[in-house]
Amino acid sequence: VERPIENYWRIRLAGVAAALEKNNFAAAAVSSLAAAKRLVLEELLPRLAPKSISWGGSMTFTATGLYDALKEWTGGRVIDTFDAAASDDEKLQRRREALLADLFITGTNALTQDGTLVNLDMIGNRVGALTFGPKAVIVLAGRNKIVPDLNAAMHRIKTVAAPANAMRLDKRTPCVKTATCHACDSPDRICNTWTITEKSFPKGRIQVVLINEPLGL
Ligand code: SF4
Repeated sequence: VERPIENYWRIRLAGVAAALEKNNFAAAAVSSLAAAKRLVLEELLPRLAPKSISWGGSMTFTATGLYDALKEWTGGRVIDTFDAAASDDEKLQRRREALLADLFITGTNALTQDGTLVNLDMIGNRVGALTFGPKAVIVLAGRNKIVPDLNAAMHRIKTVAAPANAMRLDKRTPCVKTATCHACDSPDRICNTWTITEKSFPKGRIQVVLINEPLGL
């Protein structure tokens, strides 16, 4: 078999996509970041025909190039919550407005192989939108986010994703120094609200795009 790792993950992703569909998510598995971008721009966006669109913090979303592509999107209103030129108050206001967008795009901290999404948020705008508000949500997930079960998901988030995200965001938390969680009381703590999305309700509201590359934290 050529490219055994890609082939291995192609089979694994197909299994996870089937498990997600069983849980009422819509799911697709693609081979690369470029294929994920094409799927969103050429299939999902025309089908969903959103009148407004926004997104939550996700390195995978940025890596696809969708952020740059969608900033220029002319199909309706764009609520840019990453805009470096916006003040903190303006960003907060945009995050609130994003909860009413027709379409919200984000990543996930972990994804269990039986098809559930596990997330831990600082502000809560990302898990808020995942749970309720936007009519449709697209979740972009690299293959490294797949874990066996809920315990492994929480373990992954507290031992890898949260400390690494705290480092990425230049937080003054103990995990930045030790690369492990200290259940801190820091004002900079990025770990505030957990969500476990066991099923998509209504059916198909959350569309998961599984990408056969290691992406994000
Ligand atoms: S609770 Fe604090 S120490 Fe633990 S991962 Fe989150 S920010 Fe870091």
